[in-house]
Amino acid sequence: MHELLPKAAEIRITQKPGRLNARAFDVVDQLLLFLPKRPSAAVWRAIPDSQRMRTAMAKRRSDDIPVLQTRLSNQRQTHVVAATVTADTSTFELLSNSRKLIAAAGGEKAGTLGICVVGFSGEQQQAICKAATAAALAAGFNLPSYKSKASPAGIRRIQVLGLDEKVDLDRIIAEAHGNNLARWLTAMPPNKLNAVNYAAILKDLATRNEWQFKRFNTKDLAKAGAGAFLAVAQGNDNDSASIVRLRYRPASKTAAPELSLVGKGIIFDTGGTNLKPFASMLDMHGDMQGSAVALGTLLAISELRLPLAVDCWLAITENRTGPNAYKSQDIVTAANGKTIQTIHTDAEGRMVLADTLTLASREKPRLMIDYATLTGAAVNAITTRYSAVFTNRAKWHPRLKRTGEGCGERVWPFPIGKEFLTDLKSDVADIMQCSPNPYGDHILAGSFLAEFVEHDTPWVHVDLAASSHKDGLGHIPTEVTGFGVRYTMSLMLDEQILQDH
Ligand SMILES: [Zn+2]
Repeated sequence: MHELLPKAAEIRITQKPGRLNARAFDVVDQLLLFLPKRPSAAVWRAIPDSQRMRTAMAKRRSDDIPVLQTRLSNQRQTHVVAATVTADTSTFELLSNSRKLIAAAGGEKAGTLGICVVGFSGEQQQAICKAATAAALAAGFNLPSYKSKASPAGIRRIQVLGLDEKVDLDRIIAEAHGNNLARWLTAMPPNKLNAVNYAAILKDLATRNEWQFKRFNTKDLAKAGAGAFLAVAQGNDNDSASIVRLRYRPASKTAAPELSLVGKGIIFDTGGTNLKPFASMLDMHGDMQGSAVALGTLLAISELRLPLAVDCWLAITENRTGPNAYKSQDIVTAANGKTIQTIHTDAEGRMVLADTLTLASREKPRLMIDYATLTGAAVNAITTRYSAVFTNRAKWHPRLKRTGEGCGERVWPFPIGKEFLTDLKSDVADIMQCSPNPYGDHILAGSFLAEFVEHDTPWVHVDLAASSHKDGLGHIPTEVTGFGVRYTMSLMLDEQILQDH
């Protein structure tokens, strides 16, 4: 395994379905308890040692999470924290409340986290358990740390208690692996995750997961005429930029891709010649999160062995200043032959994605999805709670939005299309990279990218406004969210968008 990849041991999950016995909580250090809003006497009777919980719940003054907090009288003095769930608790609330419960249970000795769901049946019981497990797997995963003293171990084991029957957690685990990998890579310092190491990590992951690996270096890309990508890459002080293509083929090795995932992998974004000020540049090692989300999604699909041929295209380069860096008013020719008048060097994401989308769409996938921390305009429009989605199939807007509501990684659709291109009309080239005016840049960026998608490939563009949210978002406890893995899995498996378009 590549030395820069996480080494922590896997969190073990065990399930004990059926009625809770008197000693059920004895092996649990912290217990997350999910209850109906007004638990009946029968619910309390089903929970061992519930008298203190009942008292604590009766005394509560608000609906804040946790609704009750107490310790059991067993040897471990199990720390109990609880949340209530009603029929109209959304998935986002369920995930958020699970995160808050785990935080409230925190500061405890390392060990076993219990998840106990009482007073619900069927699907709701399973949904609660899955949300809590997703939150626990996110919380139990430590992001890169370079402190000389190791941080104390967190959750080592999850024990699911009290369900009617075992719940299938394979998808939750695969999505956690994908999300954790995406967050890990995004949080990594830019001198560790440089373009060379990133390609090496991808090669290592490809070998271990039996993916096909192909790296298009700058010479290959020059041959392909990928002048938009190379305009950004030419600012690197070495020749480390590349577009990496990973292929997951569960059946025939030569099958055409059904799904293509494309990611913006800007290792560090200084803004280029149009340099960013300090505050805007501080966290720009995270400007590769789109590529990490595409990769994490591929990992989740591959771990579940979904019968789906998937390509994953990662556009990896820095955006730097220097004598070779591209400038405003440079004219470059993209891989699809279109000429671009560059306006602002900090709009590098759409440059590297333009060529990558062309290369990916030439393979004629049935669906192409790209992920990018692309515009500040998306954040201005919808804050960091949602991500912005765009598509060249406008009839999908309700489906895209519904998928976000269902899985808790919420999105909001925006329009794109030819009508917006008047804002990108150039006097000297086919299109302007962006508008010198500040209005609706997320929409203009999406409309720009659409011009580089070939064969009218059905395409969804995710502008990751929710890639970074203070104190975490949904089930994710860290500022880096890895938003998109869970969303895409839901688009494939719940919305079944590939089966029906
Ligand atoms: Zn930029």
